[in-house]
Amino acid sequence: MTHPLEQALANVGSMTEAGTLPIIVLDLDSTLFDTAPRNLRILREFALSNHHKPDIAAVVDTMSLADMGWNVTGALKKAGVDDDELLAALKKFWAQRFFTDEYLAFDEPSPGAVSYCHELWNAGALLYYLTGRHIGGMELGTLRNLVRHNFPWGSGRTVMHLKPSFHQSDEEFKQDAIRAIESLGGQVAAAFENEPANCNLLHAAFPNAASYFLDTVHSPRPDRPHEAALWLKDFRR
Ligand SMILES: [Mg+2]
Repeated sequence: MTHPLEQALANVGSMTEAGTLPIIVLDLDSTLFDTAPRNLRILREFALSNHHKPDIAAVVDTMSLADMGWNVTGALKKAGVDDDELLAALKKFWAQRFFTDEYLAFDEPSPGAVSYCHELWNAGALLYYLTGRHIGGMELGTLRNLVRHNFPWGSGRTVMHLKPSFHQSDEEFKQDAIRAIESLGGQVAAAFENEPANCNLLHAAFPNAASYFLDTVHSPRPDRPHEAALWLKDFRR
């Protein structure tokens, strides 16, 4: 059986042959990038800043990247911390850092993601990096991430599309993004997402594209990926 990752490449090949621009839509957080190092870093800084509460430092000290889930308060709760005041303080501390250029520097590419993106690009695809990270705080860090880890960037056929403001709703942003993708005049060959609701939204907009669901971490929303979604853990074959 061929690996699911071959489907996107096959679509790119046939579209290129037919003279159509193949577009690959790529989410960043928990799709192309693993955000666990960013979360663990923030958690460790929080523990350091609460040195008057040695219990927290001791708990955080036992935690690893594998303990980082969708959010850090959940991870800490799971590790046995039930001090609501402290968890609320962590939530605030986390939000002040997680959505910043500076802390994006800790993200690591998902295994296999860089070389797979090069394969798609070399086959003629336009890579459309689509992320809910916002302009006015995260665009430089996002660009640095792409460049630092050698993702295709800056040689033509790449787009980086961020949310125009932190406060725009995700729903409105995704609808705007779909219109922007359509305006390119090509055809979406594949889309990669870790949020089931976004995976389904892209599938509804581009039903002929290969639709990938990255089974990493996602929000507690109850959505399930649609039936035809191709499931991946990362980009290794
Ligand atoms: Mg994501």
